[in-house]
Amino acid sequence: MAMTNAFDASRATLTPKEKALVERRDRLLGPAYRLFYEQPVHMVRGEGVWLYDADGQAYLDCYNNVPSVGHCHPQVVEALRQQAGILNTHTRYIHEIVLDYAEQLLSTFPEELGHVMFTCTGSEANDLAYRIAKYQTGGTGFIVTDLAYHGGTDVIAALSPSLGIHVDLGENVRTIPAPDGYRGDPEVGKAFVANVRVAIADMQRHGIKPAALLIDSVFSSDGVFSDHAGFLREAAEVIREAGGLYIADEVQSGFGRTGEHWWGFQRHSVIPDMVTIGKGMGGGHPIAGLVVRPELMTELGKSRYFNTFGGNPVSCAVGKAVLDVIENESLIENVKQVGAYLKAGLHKLAKHHNVIGDVRGTGFFIGVELVKDHSSLEPATEEANRVVNGLRQKHVLISSAGPHANILKIRPPLTFTQQDADLFLQTLDEVLASL
Ligand code: PMP
Repeated sequence: MAMTNAFDASRATLTPKEKALVERRDRLLGPAYRLFYEQPVHMVRGEGVWLYDADGQAYLDCYNNVPSVGHCHPQVVEALRQQAGILNTHTRYIHEIVLDYAEQLLSTFPEELGHVMFTCTGSEANDLAYRIAKYQTGGTGFIVTDLAYHGGTDVIAALSPSLGIHVDLGENVRTIPAPDGYRGDPEVGKAFVANVRVAIADMQRHGIKPAALLIDSVFSSDGVFSDHAGFLREAAEVIREAGGLYIADEVQSGFGRTGEHWWGFQRHSVIPDMVTIGKGMGGGHPIAGLVVRPELMTELGKSRYFNTFGGNPVSCAVGKAVLDVIENESLIENVKQVGAYLKAGLHKLAKHHNVIGDVRGTGFFIGVELVKDHSSLEPATEEANRVVNGLRQKHVLISSAGPHANILKIRPPLTFTQQDADLFLQTLDEVLASL
């Protein structure tokens, strides 16, 4: 599958300066990199929910979840600056910041999840979870959703069907449909659990012992399916009965993004065996990790774990500042309130714009599915592309998702206000009207 909202040089009209930069990028970085938008953006500065391009023009960021507490939050920048000026080493020396951060981070999890291990990326965190699941269960079988993305290492790319047909899924991987109540079975939870059972039976039929069910708690790359919650509890029971583990991938849904809890799995009243975290964890700085039940560490503990940069004091000081900001600025409550406001505003727009088929999501992770027809549900892929690019021309940034690239993906920083939501809704209204 092609990447959604990818820049296509053959369709673009660029200024000579932009053209030169795109060519330079291709020459230096090679063909695997992708840019967003028909006319790429060239950002040089960020502040809060705003990004500024090379000409000094402001763009409202309704898409980026990595700068979780807003771009360049002063408290996060200061924590980084201070610790970088004192000491930065690795986790083979004692350092209190690493422990203070680990303690504060673990306090946001159920107490059963008692250890945290630091990595630099979400991919590495999932790779580590994969190893632990294999060592601990003796199994090799993994279940993921049809269009999941879990990362880019060789092993995890094979568990990421959204990468498309040029990346082979492993022989031991089984895929199941995402809980899509719009196009699929309306009894989403029941169907999801039944599909987990089918995948396990199929593995066993082929002599594969299940190792884990690996699930993004908001099904982001599948098309944002978080309106129904609760069924992951039963799915976890089913995989455990078969000898496997349940790994919650919270790289997208973590750090308060759902506006209800710190972690997306909490909406399902389930305690995972492992949780992988990243993206917003450092507010833009590369820090990620794995949170795990201590009793699952017996096998990996026999060898050793070391990650040169993972968990260094600068990253931990930054991670700690992000947690402090989320707490001190009551950002989870902000996500809850403004997220509900945003969703209500989108429902209102749906009344005037027939192309909107479905509005779904939780907190600041919202999907708006565009269709040509409300009964056939034919995907309005071209319209979604025009909306994403039309918004970009009006300096509002979102992107699209899903198998037909017809789902608008709206995922602003946690500091997004009601006023920002109004600006977004008004601009979206204008763009939809111009379709
Ligand atoms: N899991 C999910 C759900 C993700 O969305 C991503 C990144 N898009 C990853 C894992 C991998 O994270 P990273 O890019 O930091 O390796």
